[in-house]
Amino acid sequence: MDHVRQALEAGFFRETDTAILLYDLDRLEANVARLVRAFPERSLHAFAVKACPLPPILSFLAGLGLGAEAASLPEIHLALTAGFPPARIVFDSPAKTGEELRLALELGIYINADNLAELGRIAALAAATGVTPRAGLRVNPQAGVGGIKATSVAGRYSKFGVPLEQRALILDAFARYPWLGGLHVHVGSQGCPLDLLVAGVGAVFDLRRTIDRELGLGRITTFDLGGGLPAGYRDSDVPPTPAAYVAALTQRCPGLFTGDLALVTEFGRMVAAPCAVAASRVEYVKRQKGHRTAVIHLGADLFVRECYNPKSWPHRSLLLDPTGREKTGRAGIWHLAGPLCFSGDFPIRQARLPDIEPGDIVLVRDVGAYTLSMWSRYNSRQMPRILGVRQGRFAVLREREEPQDVVRFWLGREESV
Ligand SMILES: *Cc1c(COP(=O)(O)O)cnc(C)c1O
Repeated sequence: MDHVRQALEAGFFRETDTAILLYDLDRLEANVARLVRAFPERSLHAFAVKACPLPPILSFLAGLGLGAEAASLPEIHLALTAGFPPARIVFDSPAKTGEELRLALELGIYINADNLAELGRIAALAAATGVTPRAGLRVNPQAGVGGIKATSVAGRYSKFGVPLEQRALILDAFARYPWLGGLHVHVGSQGCPLDLLVAGVGAVFDLRRTIDRELGLGRITTFDLGGGLPAGYRDSDVPPTPAAYVAALTQRCPGLFTGDLALVTEFGRMVAAPCAVAASRVEYVKRQKGHRTAVIHLGADLFVRECYNPKSWPHRSLLLDPTGREKTGRAGIWHLAGPLCFSGDFPIRQARLPDIEPGDIVLVRDVGAYTLSMWSRYNSRQMPRILGVRQGRFAVLREREEPQDVVRFWLGREESV
């Protein structure tokens, strides 16, 4: 909140900016430190690029010693551009092409194969190129579904990974491919309670013991336990800390943190979500009997999940006056309507806010992950200016798009029409 006022005063949030996003890099660094402290030193924390693909944020995280989890060819290139060494990049995706796998192999990127057919492709490429893969296999622990179905991937059926019930096929794969040294599990994202995360990781960790018993001790050298620690969005949310997660995992699978198993994590949301706010100027205020609506400049373009699935994705909001100071006074119920041409375009429904006037600024909290990365081109609006603040100093992380940028996007080339 104070940061938004400072950004206004310092001229970084300009008159012409209808909205901004503002990343607090000190908070980001503190979140990373909390994660790193909780796990053994040898762990590789691969930040999920899909949570926030902004190159300056990725570079910042690379500088803090994190790795990157990439799930597409461009995400690999984003990670490389941001300065992550290939050895600290983990490649996950259920649809890896031959071209993508070849690049990953040649660069020495760690690959989590999603399925057995993909393992066959990796084997063929390894034979053709003479490169020994660094690879693991994703196993669906079939541990259950969390509170948000669309972000749960460890039910009995999932499109991801080899189901744990196909144990014999998994053992065959490890017997056939001597280079296959890792196990990978990811239970879900937001909405997965701690005991579900622990049950999923535990089930795959038990499989590791079976593999070691059947194929020789030390056969599994890398264990990737995925991401999924939630962020808090409501005042009542108390997300588990990384330390609490490690404590619960230690109880369920003591061998995970002793010995020399290389550990990988793939957190995105818990690292980045709390570290940014969105701020939009209020363009219009509309009143009719029983309804108060403030029309703002961020809608389903930034808040895709929030608009389509509002029950699962609540955000807290605050109201600032045009100078960035918090407005107080008797709160009423307000619809915060986005600028897009469809009726579901409400980033927040029924916000409790003081009286809103045009020119005020609505601030939305916890937008550091899975917002900008899901940016929608519907209505072709300009992506807002993205700011970062570190130790009181502001920087532009990404400039506001100009109309020409959007035209170029749809043209798919530089020339004009
Ligand atoms: C999305 C995803 C993550 C990150 O999940 P968070 O909830 O952001 O921690 C990690 N690993 C895989 C395979 C994913 O799909």
